[in-house]
Amino acid sequence: MKNSITPNQIKQNNRNLIYHYIYQHRKVSQQDICYDLRLSRPTVTTNLSALEQDGLIEKNGQISTDYVGRKAAAYSIVPDRRISIGVEILKNEVKIIFVNLYGEKIDRLVFAVDFTKEESYFKIVSERILEFKNKLNISEEQILGIGFAMQGLVSPDRRTVIYGKILSCTGLSIDEFTRYLPYPCCFLHDAECAAISEMWVSPELQSAFYLSISKHLGAAVISNREILSGMHGHSATIEHIQMEPDGDLCYCGKRGCMETLCSLNVLLSNEESLDDFFTHLRQQEEPYQIRWEQFLTHLARAINMLHLIHDTDYILGGYLAPYLRTEDLNFLHQEISHMTSFPETQDFLLISKMPTHNITIGAALPYIQTFLNTSTLSSV
Ligand SMILES: [Zn+2]
Repeated sequence: MKNSITPNQIKQNNRNLIYHYIYQHRKVSQQDICYDLRLSRPTVTTNLSALEQDGLIEKNGQISTDYVGRKAAAYSIVPDRRISIGVEILKNEVKIIFVNLYGEKIDRLVFAVDFTKEESYFKIVSERILEFKNKLNISEEQILGIGFAMQGLVSPDRRTVIYGKILSCTGLSIDEFTRYLPYPCCFLHDAECAAISEMWVSPELQSAFYLSISKHLGAAVISNREILSGMHGHSATIEHIQMEPDGDLCYCGKRGCMETLCSLNVLLSNEESLDDFFTHLRQQEEPYQIRWEQFLTHLARAINMLHLIHDTDYILGGYLAPYLRTEDLNFLHQEISHMTSFPETQDFLLISKMPTHNITIGAALPYIQTFLNTSTLSSV
């Protein structure tokens, strides 16, 4: 029969089921697995031994179980059996993060280096990644891949930067890195990385409009847990929607784009940090309150326009997220209510649940997702 399942596939399927069950529940007993997955004890025992031998799971103390009256041996996955790396390429610095199979930070490195589209730059960045890997005692086999978060649009195959005006890197190929790094590598749009992180920490999140409010503005549309890229890869590039035809010059060459009103480059003055700004603001200092209300008013105009086009949840993320408070959402909502044509309920404005390292971790996550979704779950 053409579509029948072979014994080998059943075996593989059981192995995957057991691994994912342990992954999701973090610490489980053999009895939990047998009962919840309705698998026989010998099947579970054989698979646990094989997974343990492959280094994918380990015994992890003891655990009380509902199914037997005494404590039983507990099993967990080995979170750093495989590792993924996220790298954020910025104008004057590079951020690197190593994450385990739960997407948790193992360690992080930030160093200053000016971006240039030259071989010397790609060599330096690659060398720093490899040095950091060695410092952390991570073997070649553990590494699943490296995702490079770029301030620009990326081709669907993630191999080329198709629009990179901030860094003047349009046309950049991933080969510039892979010639020095012996791992799978890819580019990702930084706003997409932030949205991927958001989905990772919010399993219940189905659809939303994610606003990445950082030094630059970015966005991503999440639809049924997928990120919409559009026909030409520029869906959700809201930063270039013109809000004021005679406004300030945007890096894209046009005037008055949303970027020139709603990015942190506009909120903060030179050398001013978010910490500085919000310390003064939360101490109720008037000049800061005026600047903040002006910024929020522009942001409200932007969100109102977007919300009229796409009626969904709006997640406020990026570097601004950890500083936002409910009172700021209330202000935004009040402004939007005044502007909009429809009665607005307040339930559509949310603050990101993952305010730190969201771009670097998000760049690393696709390799982990691929590993977890793979049908073979290779041990190396
Ligand atoms: Zn623009």
